[in-house]
Amino acid sequence: MKLLEYQGKEIFAKYGVPIPQGRVAFSPDEAASIAAEIGKTVVVKAQVHAGGRGKAGGIKLAKDPDEARAVAAQIIGMEIKGLKVERVLVEEAADIKEEYYLGITTDRAARRNIVMVSKEGGIEIEVVAEQNPAAIAKLHLDPAIGLQDFQIRQLGFEANLPPTALKGMGAFLKALYKVYLDYDCSLAEINPLVLTGDGKLIAADSKIVLDDNALFRHPDLAQFQEEQEDDPIEAEAHKRGLTYVRLEGDIGIIGNGAGLVMTTLDVVQREGGRPANFLDIGGGAKAEVVTQAIDTVLLDKNVKGIFFNIFGGITRGDEVAKGMLSAIEIIDIKVPIVVRLTGTRAAEGLALLEGSPLVGAATMQEGAQKIVALVNQN
Ligand code: GDP
Ligand code: MN
Repeated sequence: MKLLEYQGKEIFAKYGVPIPQGRVAFSPDEAASIAAEIGKTVVVKAQVHAGGRGKAGGIKLAKDPDEARAVAAQIIGMEIKGLKVERVLVEEAADIKEEYYLGITTDRAARRNIVMVSKEGGIEIEVVAEQNPAAIAKLHLDPAIGLQDFQIRQLGFEANLPPTALKGMGAFLKALYKVYLDYDCSLAEINPLVLTGDGKLIAADSKIVLDDNALFRHPDLAQFQEEQEDDPIEAEAHKRGLTYVRLEGDIGIIGNGAGLVMTTLDVVQREGGRPANFLDIGGGAKAEVVTQAIDTVLLDKNVKGIFFNIFGGITRGDEVAKGMLSAIEIIDIKVPIVVRLTGTRAAEGLALLEGSPLVGAATMQEGAQKIVALVNQN
């Protein structure tokens, strides 16, 4: 899960990281009243899960409440990288002298967390990595040792930070590392860390990505999670406890096991079809889950056919077949459904399906061919 800038900054504040004074606003009027509270020039920043907001016109200065209202009206409702802006952060504008980058992420290849510091802040680190990789000082962390003061100094020197920044940067990096560990992050960034005209450091942006598998350990973030579901079908699927990702095609895909479902997507694509989704019912799914899965896939009105690919291990074929039959009974299904069922109790499952409108397939490939043909026919 990604946090929005203001949500990440709320966490930073808890950890004593200096951030500009400000709050989130959902309307131009609200933005104006926050600007009035602050009583200085403010910056109005689009809150969407995307970088490069400045370039896209999503970050604007406003010298008084009226201007804040006007720029908020421009920014709220605009689209940045396909994401609609629904809220803005209104905060005291920073007097920016220099911009640095601080970040921590997981380096899977090294099986370590990696800390990065750069003097080239304010732009996306991927761009710096491409154009000027030497400008990023990096250090892999030993989990038993953590992040020590001497390592912080070493990183600062390597990144060529000026003495004013070197002095204060350590506190930011330590807090960032604590946030990274405490919140089970896969990424925690301050970009830019701003050096102001009067020599102070302040976190002007936050980017935090949390490991979804650890979210249950952070009930305080549950509200952010609900808010961040942009896709209503994905939101509904997750509420139902299904592992579902919406794609752009028209063939609904349901299988058991992530690997099998991904392979099914590939095979359908190779047969000339366009998958509409990824849906993994997991291992040992009961009939009810199967019914729910069909219902969820059909929430997407682009779906013109469904391909079920079930390999029975702990999942039982007869259980899956019962789920399909009950779905047909409950839901008014107008699209063709192709079923490939093999493994545990496949014969019993297929026997149950006999006489139903479901189309059987002996192999994954045959199933893919059949569903593509049926969808193209209609
Ligand atoms: P991102 O590009 O989406 O990551 O958004 P950032 O929050 O990093 O802001 C992008 C850029 O906008 C910064 O690098 C600054 O140059 C500029 N910016 C952000 N906040 C302020 C501010 O308070 N004052 C001024 N002058 N510029 C700002
Ligand atoms: Mn940024």
